[in-house]
Amino acid sequence: MKISVENNGLKVPNIVDIPYIEGDGIGPDISKATKRVVDEALGISYGGDRKINWMELMAGEKAISKFNTPLPDETVKKMTEYRISLKGPLTTPVGGGFRSINVTLRQIMDLYANVRPVKYYPGLPSPLKSPEKVDMVVFRENTEDVYMGIEFPANSKEAEQVIELMSKLGYNIRKGSGIGIKPISKFGTSRISKMAIEYAFANGRKSVTIMHKGNIMKYTEGAFKEWAYETARTYGDKVVNETEVSGKNMDGKIVIKDRIADNMFQQILLRPDEYDIILCPNLNGDYISDALAAQIGGIGVAPSGNIGDNYAVFEAVHGSAPKYANLDVADPSSLLLSAVMMLRYIRWNEPANLIEKAFVNTLRDKQVPQDLARHLGVKSLKTSEFAESIVQHMSKN
Ligand code: NAP
Repeated sequence: MKISVENNGLKVPNIVDIPYIEGDGIGPDISKATKRVVDEALGISYGGDRKINWMELMAGEKAISKFNTPLPDETVKKMTEYRISLKGPLTTPVGGGFRSINVTLRQIMDLYANVRPVKYYPGLPSPLKSPEKVDMVVFRENTEDVYMGIEFPANSKEAEQVIELMSKLGYNIRKGSGIGIKPISKFGTSRISKMAIEYAFANGRKSVTIMHKGNIMKYTEGAFKEWAYETARTYGDKVVNETEVSGKNMDGKIVIKDRIADNMFQQILLRPDEYDIILCPNLNGDYISDALAAQIGGIGVAPSGNIGDNYAVFEAVHGSAPKYANLDVADPSSLLLSAVMMLRYIRWNEPANLIEKAFVNTLRDKQVPQDLARHLGVKSLKTSEFAESIVQHMSKN
């Protein structure tokens, strides 16, 4: 049965069809491990009353060999029709000429937020002295900013035309410059701000921090900050500016604050416990997400979701790591934790909590795949053994 939309929210049937893309390289190993753990968690939590019917869709190298395209129309159609899906990592085809899978899916389903929770689990390697203080969620705007790809190479006709136009407006751009355009709109900013603030309320978070470089880029990043604050004000006294917190009863309320991007990078290292939800334009989000992932064990364990209004694609943050393909050694944690995000998104919280707890206990017992084992100096488990170990830990809960 398909997920549908009712009263502006998702209506999830008890036996739900979820499309998935297995992925290239390590994709098959980590997808198999993820489905194994998720299915077991559903069985323990719901005893057969709720189930996922996994529907494999073709993409990447498998699709190229069969259909001569990494993203067949049928795959896009099904992902849109079924609304929520899980995606393994795909190898970027060599030689170009193919449309980008992520960009295509993002545009068709208008997945305007890239959401990246970064939480430290004891046992993961971290360069921080107190990594347990890291528990943030990045909301990165996914459709605007320099990522719109409006760029003209130096000396091109378009670049020369822009330089001429700017000269007429009184701005001198050096001849022979490459040009890139950075659009940021009130529409794009307001909707992701709303999503971040509502997530904060729904998940008992304490603050939303707007990360921007508005002191330099006033009408793009500065405007992002202003429009985000404007959205926050629509929540009345439920959202309090950090300058007005003193003496207030903050029960059920959240704090809104902003930090300049460069400062934000030192804040997440030096005072991570003061930050919770980070709301940012596209480029800042790209940088800060990986910096944060490094603090909690790296991209091998960082989950993500590309989310729009009632559409979402949850995916591993890392690539297809081809050198580990079919060796049953890759770490499935990123995809597994992305599946946990997916379960929470459809409000199947029991299995999500069960997996997370078992994952923590498996790490505690140092039963980990090779990427983590080499840091911890312990014997490594295969991908499939790691999945079995998480399953065993679930039954012990
Ligand atoms: P990568 O696949 O992320 O792998 C880089 C390195 O990270 C690996 O060699 C390995 O490090 C480690 N690693 C990543 N994921 C791991 C896992 N699950 N378990 C264990 N180790 C893991 O990056 P890449 O080699 O630059 O890219 C390979 C292909 O993936 C490229 O075609 C790239 O375009 C594509 N890609 C796809 C996505 C996506 O689909 N979302 C994202 C990024 C890249 P060690 O060698 O140190 O063990």
